Amino acid sequence: MTIVAVEHLSFRYNSVEVLSDISFDVTAGDYVGLVGPNGSGKTTAIKVILGLIKQTKGMVSLFGTKTNDFRDWRRIGYLPQKHTHFNPHFPATVREIVSSGLFSTKKFPKRMQRSDEASIDEAMKLTDVADIRHKLIGELSGGQQQRVLVARAIVNRPELLILDEPTTALDPEAREKFFQTLMGLNHNRNVTIILITHDIASIGKYASKLLYLDKQIIFYGSFEDFCVSDNMTNYFGEFTQHLICHRHD
Ligand code: ADP
Repeated sequence: MTIVAVEHLSFRYNSVEVLSDISFDVTAGDYVGLVGPNGSGKTTAIKVILGLIKQTKGMVSLFGTKTNDFRDWRRIGYLPQKHTHFNPHFPATVREIVSSGLFSTKKFPKRMQRSDEASIDEAMKLTDVADIRHKLIGELSGGQQQRVLVARAIVNRPELLILDEPTTALDPEAREKFFQTLMGLNHNRNVTIILITHDIASIGKYASKLLYLDKQIIFYGSFEDFCVSDNMTNYFGEFTQHLICHRHD
């Protein structure tokens, strides 16, 4: 099943072209690492896919419906780039933050049902924050806060999860753990994932596909194909290609 379809998409900010004729499909169960230099259009592509900004040319659809006509936003979890830095005294516990993801799509009155409780518990368990559920969000480390925000993004059990640079604030150990959490969601819950990341040296260990963007698509496919592609050796040079391929099995 095609979850995201992008066809001949172009985007301009005023007169500056940021995305140039890009086409790709994301299929159910994919874990796509979206990589590219700063300013290469990654965030813009995601915003167009989610209908937050409108393309200049081309077509984008979600679950087979054009983004413009798509209404079933519960099927999608999105963690944008800039996340809140919580004040240490911010008066909300981990559990309350996770629950707020549930309410954001609910109509008033906001009454919690037993199935909601189960979804909250499950989201906290999957992201490994159940043990700290009664702590204040501001007391946690950056890695823990980030996992809480993912729990909030998955509490509606989305089929597609899109994350924009979620690991920049994390130390290498927390980052690995975070990538593993996402891999668990992908493997165990079949959540389709698109992850924008700078971490080209690690992403190949976890993601199933690489989308390398630089205003246009430089590469889209499996890491296996990327690693043996002569075109990519020519484009990146052997060293960088190897760095992206590198797998610590
Ligand atoms: P990436 O996520 O790959 O770093 P972006 O999609 O954020 O790249 O940005 C792509 C290009 O578009 C950059 O050159 C950036 O400066 C420009 N850009 C981003 N947002 C705006 C905006 N609101 N107005 C004008 N230009 C923008």
